[in-house]
Amino acid sequence: MTLAFGAEIVTRFAPSPTGLLHLGHAHSALLGHRVAHDAGGRFLLRIEDIDRTRCKPEFETAIFDDLHWLGLDWEEPVRRQSDHFADYAAALQRLEADGLIYPCFCSRKDIAAAASAPHEGETVIYPGTCRGLDPILAAERKASAAAFALRLDVAKAARRAGPLAFLDAEPDGSNAREIRAEPERFGDVVLGRRDTPASYHLCATLDDHLQGVTLVIRGEDLRPATHLHRLLQAVLGLATPQYRHHVLLRNESGVRLSKRDGAMALRALRDRGVSANAVRKMAGFQDA
Ligand code: GLU
Repeated sequence: MTLAFGAEIVTRFAPSPTGLLHLGHAHSALLGHRVAHDAGGRFLLRIEDIDRTRCKPEFETAIFDDLHWLGLDWEEPVRRQSDHFADYAAALQRLEADGLIYPCFCSRKDIAAAASAPHEGETVIYPGTCRGLDPILAAERKASAAAFALRLDVAKAARRAGPLAFLDAEPDGSNAREIRAEPERFGDVVLGRRDTPASYHLCATLDDHLQGVTLVIRGEDLRPATHLHRLLQAVLGLATPQYRHHVLLRNESGVRLSKRDGAMALRALRDRGVSANAVRKMAGFQDA
């Protein structure tokens, strides 16, 4: 797959500093770096740290350190999402002014879940309880509620945007195909909350635009999220990158690696004396 004639390839790796990077992250980062490098393009790093309770500065430091150790380089400055809450608040205000978001006073658990990327199997479909709240009542409750979420009215946004599609390809760029976006499958997602005008979906989509990312390369567990991101791009007037989704690395029991798999943390492998070259090979880059 090639991008539009003359377009530069700009990829990014966007980890959250909620734990140590593991072999699966190494695969994703090496792939993005390789694709950009081979095309004479640019590779960016973004720290997705809007969840101020789960993200830790020591994990951010470890991300830089482990990626350098792996042999990667990226453009400076690195975009750190927690430095840009004003950008996300402005985008939310715009959606609010367009009548596309509404306050929701339902479960706090749903609200908390909105700060992290919804890896497959973790998505909760909201039944739309607060969508039809009387606007006067909603304004009163907003003024008095300790917490509330701001949800996208997905059906309304989709009606306004009309039919949408995005280009998805294999990690090596083959089999590029146009996928019809079906954002309704997510239900009315949370885009922000009273105290934090941010969610994974809003921040990642806006940042990809602001950073000029032309090719998003990420795990296949986030493919469903792409349907929603396409809708956000349409209603916020953002550019649409192309996409490649890669398989997820699994542990010996066949379960996909997570930050809880300490043994596969890059740091743990390094401490056990495994070389960076060997780790690159374990992450699927034989000729690294
Ligand atoms: N911060 C997200 C994660 O840790 C990255 C999502 C993305 O690449 O869009 O999964």
